[in-house]
Amino acid sequence: MGQLVSFSKFIAGRLDGKIQKISVNAGHNCPNRDGTLSRGGCIYCSNQSFSPGYTTANPDIEAQIEAGRKFFGRKYPEMRYLVYFQSYTSTNASLEEVKSQVNRALAYSDVAGCVIGTRPDAVSEELLQWFASLMPDKFMMVEFGAETASDETLRLINRHHTWAQTVEAVEMAHRCGLPVGLHLIFGLPGEHRDEILSTIDAVNALPVDLLKCHHLQVIRNTPLHRMIEAGEIEVERWTPDDYAALCREVLGRLRPDIMVERLLSQAPPSMVVSPKWGLKNYQFINRYFPDATGPSACADAGTGGHDRGHRLHAQTK
Ligand code: SF4
Repeated sequence: MGQLVSFSKFIAGRLDGKIQKISVNAGHNCPNRDGTLSRGGCIYCSNQSFSPGYTTANPDIEAQIEAGRKFFGRKYPEMRYLVYFQSYTSTNASLEEVKSQVNRALAYSDVAGCVIGTRPDAVSEELLQWFASLMPDKFMMVEFGAETASDETLRLINRHHTWAQTVEAVEMAHRCGLPVGLHLIFGLPGEHRDEILSTIDAVNALPVDLLKCHHLQVIRNTPLHRMIEAGEIEVERWTPDDYAALCREVLGRLRPDIMVERLLSQAPPSMVVSPKWGLKNYQFINRYFPDATGPSACADAGTGGHDRGHRLHAQTK
């Protein structure tokens, strides 16, 4: 059975003291949007998060970190930080540029490390080895958006990578000595209980440390929204009770050492077509898994004005 934990609990075994994530946008867009792989993006991904100016609205890493430190440091002056390169594809840039951004983040004495969010096809062994070389002075971790183990679904959602690429990236990161996180989406078109549990079986075979899962949200004006409206595809219409039952099965099936940081994401309600549950991750956890984790669990902290974009991306990644 997988363990449902807060990120604080996950990190507690790895770093001392109070640790807070600061989410930053490295401003690198996404190869599935910038024409490298396609211009259409994943069918559930909102174009709005790629509105002109947003992805490069504030590529100044220092300014974003300082805003986060100011916000969180007011309450806990002793706080240390993990800089979370969360938005879009954080490694969709040259090796030198990624190194420069990470080095700038790590230059702060109270920055304990970085978490790098990216696609499985957007890392090289050289980059992963460089991340690993920064340990043990700093904590380094990579998170890959895998979404599903089904290549058929990956094709349908226009993801432009395969499960084999996820396997390769996860194994490579693990070989380098990096903790590995994986993102999954439950309820993708054509996927129901059995397909989702098959993905969990595939994840169990990998050296994954942390899982972030969420249900598929249909965002207004995405290709997914249009395809559903046109009757081209159907997706699950779970209630929160249904989804909680699925999550219980997922946790029951998951390898016991894999920690699960989240089960749900919430895009800004005005953008969501369905489902409209009005639940944040911590509310869902508290309602359905009250014994699993504490009330403050599972909240990724964004900083100020970027939180909206991060929450949007968190559900589209
Ligand atoms: S969901 Fe992520 S990988 Fe897919 S198009 Fe959007 S940013 Fe790119």
